[in-house]
Amino acid sequence: ATTFKGKTVALFGLGGSGLATAKALQAGGANVIAWDDNPDSVARAAAEGVPTQDLREIDWSSVASFVLSPGVPLTHPKPHWTVGFARAAGVEIIGDVEIFVRERRAHAPDCPFIAITGTNGKSTTTALIAHILQASGRDTQLGGNIGRAVLTLDPPKDGRFFVVECSSYQIDLAPTLNPTAGILLNLTPDHLDRHGTMQHYADVKERLVAGAKTAIVGIDDSYCELIGDRIERAGTKVIRISKRQPLANGLYAEGSRIMRADSGASAPLVDLSAIQTLRGSHNAQNACAAIAACLAVGVSEGEIRKGLQSFPGLKHRMQPVGRRGQVLFVNDSKATNADAAAPALSSYERIYWIAGGLPKEGGIASLAPLFPRIVKAYLIGEAASAFAAQLGDRVPYEISDRLERAVAHAAADADQDGEASAVMLSPACASFDQYKNFEVRGDAFVTHVAGLEGVTMLIE
Ligand code: ADP
Repeated sequence: ATTFKGKTVALFGLGGSGLATAKALQAGGANVIAWDDNPDSVARAAAEGVPTQDLREIDWSSVASFVLSPGVPLTHPKPHWTVGFARAAGVEIIGDVEIFVRERRAHAPDCPFIAITGTNGKSTTTALIAHILQASGRDTQLGGNIGRAVLTLDPPKDGRFFVVECSSYQIDLAPTLNPTAGILLNLTPDHLDRHGTMQHYADVKERLVAGAKTAIVGIDDSYCELIGDRIERAGTKVIRISKRQPLANGLYAEGSRIMRADSGASAPLVDLSAIQTLRGSHNAQNACAAIAACLAVGVSEGEIRKGLQSFPGLKHRMQPVGRRGQVLFVNDSKATNADAAAPALSSYERIYWIAGGLPKEGGIASLAPLFPRIVKAYLIGEAASAFAAQLGDRVPYEISDRLERAVAHAAADADQDGEASAVMLSPACASFDQYKNFEVRGDAFVTHVAGLEGVTMLIE
């Protein structure tokens, strides 16, 4: 990162991406002074040649920029103590995405850069865009809030495409964020613990699209709709997307068909119904956004269709993992609360539902409208009896306790069904009572499915 050459940069937070940032700055000739609250992280950084010093003891008047790592509170009601030092000295506070943006501006201002934010669907949309670009043979780098930290990617150069997922936090710390295409998918009240108010949260997210050459905005919620109107009035080119309403301009879903509209005339671009990894209206929103972004950076409709059709999906998120006859096995282990399980339950008609784990407040009450889709529930973990009570006599269930037994019983019942059905792990619970995290739980599901007789696995 040569834009900081010869400058003193203070950095706080020496986790994986903080350490990568420190090294990238050093490699570009910056004088880095790094610190962390955790002595082990400091020791590790020092061992790797990064100069470390307590940031209470440094001469802040010589510091050009202060870099804060992901995970260190900035906008939290109680900001981290380092923020006070930087502010008092009038030093700019930035994050790794801002460093990337400056590198790109200095070395390859025309290399296509797609940035993605929103409350839900960021990772799916980011992965989908990167997949379409890769499938079309383009040099593609994916990172940010998902996967690798941006400064560990190959550096900006002409003809290289960057697809970067941005959290609110990263946007907050990137004052000159200027993507070629910026996506704001949706905004719902979430993460408010960190951002105080919904308005502040929305304002931060707005900056990602306000600074974009082409802004792609989902208009299915009122916050985003207003943002789209406002930035358009201010002169930004806006492409609107909707998963539910026809538009005169932009991209929208009509059932499973994605329509491209221009001055009132619309034409179907692709039908998602045969693409297992993009089921459900939430994925129609993600697909519309991904398509709009790819079009904005010059990908053809044919290339886009090809990429969509071969999208492998993201692990643990409504991921089809195996098939036996008419039964599809779906891993949605990422659904750690009822809201997160709703899209998966909405996306299939006949479901043998494996749920439970460490329960969250409210349990599964909010899922009641989806109960008619559930043929039978297989309840595991600590939540089993509470969920059983909430299902009552509306849905047949069994207390399976353990995932392995739930998979075996659900698969056997689904086999007898006679109609197409899904055996789905979408637990609506945290995993910590039985597993280290949702990934380990999802992997266990996959292992149990693979162990069933006669199953064709759909993943490696
Ligand atoms: P994020 O990266 O924003 O957390 P993901 O792409 O990882 O989002 O998806 C997480 C879960 O959120 C999915 O399993 C699905 O249940 C739900 N989801 C995905 N896309 C959307 C969307 N566009 N709107 C609402 N919910 C979504």
